[in-house]
Amino acid sequence: MFELIKTDASTKARLGRITTAHGVVDTPVYMPVGTQGSVKAIDPRELREMGAQIILGNTYHLNIRPGLDIIRAAGGLHRFINWPAPILTDSGGFQVFSLAKIRKIKQHGVEFRSHLDGSALFLGPKEAMEIQRTLGSDIAMAFDECPPHDAPAKDQRLAVERTMRWARECREQPRASGQLVFGIVQGGSNAALREECAKTIVALELDGYAIGGVSVGEPEPEMMKALELTEPFLPVDRARYAMGLGTPAQMVELVARGMDMFDCVLPTRVARNGTAFTRKGAIGVKGGSYKADFRPIEDGCGCFACQHFTRAYLRHLLNVDEILGLRMLSVHNSHLFLKVMADVRAALAAGTFAEFRREFVASYVPSRKVLSAREAAALER
Ligand SMILES: [Zn+2]
Repeated sequence: MFELIKTDASTKARLGRITTAHGVVDTPVYMPVGTQGSVKAIDPRELREMGAQIILGNTYHLNIRPGLDIIRAAGGLHRFINWPAPILTDSGGFQVFSLAKIRKIKQHGVEFRSHLDGSALFLGPKEAMEIQRTLGSDIAMAFDECPPHDAPAKDQRLAVERTMRWARECREQPRASGQLVFGIVQGGSNAALREECAKTIVALELDGYAIGGVSVGEPEPEMMKALELTEPFLPVDRARYAMGLGTPAQMVELVARGMDMFDCVLPTRVARNGTAFTRKGAIGVKGGSYKADFRPIEDGCGCFACQHFTRAYLRHLLNVDEILGLRMLSVHNSHLFLKVMADVRAALAAGTFAEFRREFVASYVPSRKVLSAREAAALER
């Protein structure tokens, strides 16, 4: 399932490969997010052309709309959305605890009301695995409780206890053919909780492990701390997934800390307010300074938008609300995230990752606007 090809000499970075029922995924990997069964504004052909290997689908949202009957009748999620390559589905736990109106947390799951029409629903480990089995994803996530980053210690402990119990239940459920199941480690920024949760989840011998409870609005140092507190307890022979992260520079830093998989809605989310990512940080293409700027968004970028359009034209499209502007920014941003990870893999293979990291992070200027968009982005994924 996961093959560790090479470990970097001076960091914890790893070059690897995950084999799934719908193909092989080279790691480290960025996974575009298709919350509602579509990576916003980008079609599957474009995704393949820009090098996407695996995308995310959202259990909570797809279960509410279009519903499992439709996806079952279509022959599974891959066929329904016409994406023949690997798909990872989250368990729905994140949305139940962030979007839905919780009614009661019970031993075997959560009673809640749909954010859409208020109807009463129940989701627990058994239901989450059943939905993911019907979707037919290649990687299913265990059902967990993800508390807010500032939750009191008592709530963090309860969330860890439920997450550990529910992971055990998830492991016992039937799976789709060839479906891998990843466990999730919670525990906030509490060292003892992270260790206890990681050891318990790892003892279940699942196919991979994710670090949850990050990208929930916490400041970056706290996010890095949560990762660093968990990583030492994860086995080297399984993939490690940093959930909901991050910016290009953060992904490079997380690779150096031993992470293999990332997902983030920022590329398409910030496109909608006219922001483009570059290797030097984010820029506001809508701004007046690009009015007569006939360069591409980023010199040397191989994406369709940069190959065909100028900043001045894209700025115009964004200002008159033409859909093409938003689409091209989404294409450029997603391409950039995928390309940065492809460059990371090439650097790891060549033994030059430490150098790559130093140069990349030094020239990347974090944007306060982008970082503050992370909290809102978390709810979307
Ligand atoms: Zn581009």
